[in-house]
Amino acid sequence: LKSPYHGGHLEVIVGPMFSGKSEELIRRVTRAVIARQNVQVFKPALDDRYHESKVASHAGRTVAALAVGSAAEIRAHLAGEGALLSDPGVSALPDVVGIDEVQFLGPEVVPLALELAGAGVRVILAGLDLDFRAEPFGSMPDLLARAESVEKLTAICTVCGAPATRSQRLIGGQPARLSDPVVLVGAQESYEARCRVHHELRE
Ligand code: ADP
Repeated sequence: LKSPYHGGHLEVIVGPMFSGKSEELIRRVTRAVIARQNVQVFKPALDDRYHESKVASHAGRTVAALAVGSAAEIRAHLAGEGALLSDPGVSALPDVVGIDEVQFLGPEVVPLALELAGAGVRVILAGLDLDFRAEPFGSMPDLLARAESVEKLTAICTVCGAPATRSQRLIGGQPARLSDPVVLVGAQESYEARCRVHHELRE
C-alpha cells in the first residue's frame, strides 16, 4: 500500500463534468482510509462558509469533507492561523489531503499543494481541466504541469455516445454564449458532457 513516490507528491484527476472525477477521488480516499491513513478532504464552499460537508459523486457515493471559502482556509485548518506548513510546531499533517472542485479555488491553491507535497503529504486534487468555453480553467494548467501523476477522464457525449472531453453549458436549453457570465444568478442553466464535435458555443 506504500505509494510509489518517496514522501509527498501531487496527483491530479481531471476531465469534464460527469467524467467520474469525484468517484475517482472517493475511491482513492476510501482506499487510504482502509490503509489506516489519516485523510482530510476539502471542497470549495459555494456560500463561502466553512462547514462540515461531503463530496458526492453523481452516482451517489459520498465521503466526508470540509467546505472552505479559500485555499487560505485549508492552510489555516491544517497548520493554524498564520503558520507555515513547514513550521516544526505543525506536527500532525494528514497523510493524505484531497480537494474536489479545485478549479474554483484561487491561485493560492498552487503554493499550498506544493508545500503540502513538500511536507510529505499525498495530495489528491480533482477538478475541471476546461471551463464551459473549453478554455483551461483557473490554476488547473499549473497544477497539471507540476503533478507527479495526472489522470484525464472522459464522460459520455450526450449527443453521440463518444468519449466526452468538454462540459456543455446550456441556458434555457440553448448553448451558452461566450459572453455569458460564468456565474448566472436565477437563470435556468444546466450542463451536459459533450465530445469535441458536439460542444457548442453561441456567438
Ligand atoms: P464528476 O465528478 O467528473 O462530475 P461524478 O463522479 O460525480 O463525475 O459522476 C460520474 C457518474 O455520473 C458516472 O459514473 C455516471 O453514473 C454518471 N453520469 C451521468 N451522465 C453521464 C455522462 N454523460 N457520461 C458519463 N457518466 C455520466
